[in-house]
Amino acid sequence: MAKENKKCAFCGRDSEDVELLISGIDAHICERCVSQAKSIVDEEKALVEKKKIPSFKLFKPAEIKKHLDQYVIGQEDAKKVLSVAVYNHYKRINYSTPKTGEEDGVELEKSNIVLVGETGTGKTLMARTIARKMKVPFCIADATVLTEAGYVGEDVESILVRLLQVADYNVTAAERGIVFIDELDKIARKSDNPSITRDVSGEGVQQALLKLLEGSVVNVPPHGGRKHPEQKMIQINTQNILFICGGAFVGIEKRILSRMQANVIGYGAGKSAEIDRENVLQYVAPQDLKSFGLIPELVGRLPVLTFFSQLDRLALRQILTEPKNSLIKQYKKLFEMDGKELAIDDAVLDYIVDRAIEYKLGARGLRSICEFIMLDAMYEIPSALDHSERFHINLAYARKQLEKVKMGPLKAAS
Ligand code: ADP
Repeated sequence: MAKENKKCAFCGRDSEDVELLISGIDAHICERCVSQAKSIVDEEKALVEKKKIPSFKLFKPAEIKKHLDQYVIGQEDAKKVLSVAVYNHYKRINYSTPKTGEEDGVELEKSNIVLVGETGTGKTLMARTIARKMKVPFCIADATVLTEAGYVGEDVESILVRLLQVADYNVTAAERGIVFIDELDKIARKSDNPSITRDVSGEGVQQALLKLLEGSVVNVPPHGGRKHPEQKMIQINTQNILFICGGAFVGIEKRILSRMQANVIGYGAGKSAEIDRENVLQYVAPQDLKSFGLIPELVGRLPVLTFFSQLDRLALRQILTEPKNSLIKQYKKLFEMDGKELAIDDAVLDYIVDRAIEYKLGARGLRSICEFIMLDAMYEIPSALDHSERFHINLAYARKQLEKVKMGPLKAAS
């Protein structure tokens, strides 16, 4: 008789209509209501998590640099400058009120960063490595895409959509993230005289970027684009987002040199002899970015400026084996997964570097060359019948593999 009276106290279903009825002190609950309640609890918990201010450890500049040393070869100046800038940035966030960046009347201004150096010298790698160390959301945006799409403003906001997505829609986390804007040089004004050639594509995007860089509240469509007009906008304050911009600024050396020579003429002779012409980029100054075609306001919002040197033979050779996740370590791991030990002669590594230099491919080319050399082995080994434990690459094998490749693909890799 008691059985007939048993009902789920939540949905009211009778014990006969449910699979399981769990008894409490005064009531019962069915399995469906349990799982529904569980999903409500999970959703609520997730919401609370999203609102939490993520805490992060403030690493000292020397700690950041030490971390960078494990992944990035050379670029000592840039590592130091970036470590200090990132430390100051997060120190500023930790010690100031989230809204104004102001405490006891002293306003700590944000220091966005600009990295000048040829492609493939480690600019993106360094920004990404720092973000990983700080455990903050990180995304890469390409300034040239913004140029093509015009200067409506919304396009620039797409950068924040990506950051928000990386942060798993946690607005607070996104607001402390790092954005790497690549190819900043490509949105430079083409003419020194804006009134003659109205180069809107570049300048329009620069103006729109300026708003993000200086810190403002931006309405961001969470799913991007205009495809979902009904979506609710999310407000993101860019005040504490660190923007790191990178660019090759091809030809900027000439501007640096002419500025330096003009200074020598103006302020006394004899100094020109001290200029290291092999690495002129080390003298890069904000005014060179202006003369390259960046608007003064934008240059003003990028107060930390550093350079990346060209990678020489020794650096390329080190890149192959020394970083914590170097290319060769990665290949060894891949082979290990197929139960093979990969052995590569030093002569092969020198050969890879020589080819990268010969084809003018720089660090990016190392990977393509390795791929060509390893391709047959990586194709055959997983289904190979021989069960030897070692795969050995000597110079003759590497040469043979690379000689099979037409110049085309290697050229394209640049
Ligand atoms: P950039 O942003 O300057 O164009 P990247 O950081 O994208 O260059 O470098 C491309 C690849 O080349 C990296 O993923 C890395 O494998 C390698 N690389 C470039 N520079 C270095 C470096 N200084 N140390 C270690 N690896 C490097």
